[in-house]
Amino acid sequence: MTGQVEDCRDEWEGPVPVPTGATVPFWEATLEGRLLYQECDCGNRQLYPRAVCTACGAEDPPFEASEGVGTIYTYTVCYVPGEPGFADRTPYVVGAIELAEGPRLLALLDADLERLEIGAAVGVTFWQISEEAAIPVFVPE
Ligand SMILES: [Zn+2]
Repeated sequence: MTGQVEDCRDEWEGPVPVPTGATVPFWEATLEGRLLYQECDCGNRQLYPRAVCTACGAEDPPFEASEGVGTIYTYTVCYVPGEPGFADRTPYVVGAIELAEGPRLLALLDADLERLEIGAAVGVTFWQISEEAAIPVFVPE
């Protein structure tokens, strides 16, 4: 599955990731609307991308494509911006999303506050914020 990629480069004032090392394939895929995680030969699945498997220490665990769906594991509503670039976005929501494949990631949740519920189904979309990166943002299904 590929998610929609919205061009947000003009309006984004938040921090911009700088792809390096193990994160390069991850960010390249986001520009195409694909969410990757790593699945080691030992069976461990992890996200964010790392140079080694957190379970067995193997180097460069291979990437797999997520279906881009999951559930809200937990979330927080931010009324005070965590970064100056988020001042115009308050209140905004940061969620820990548990992907259907297992790994969890922290991401913005683009949802009405009334619709937020732990365990609710969400799907990924992407906001392109630089030439090199589109951030995964989750919306209720
Ligand atoms: Zn491993």
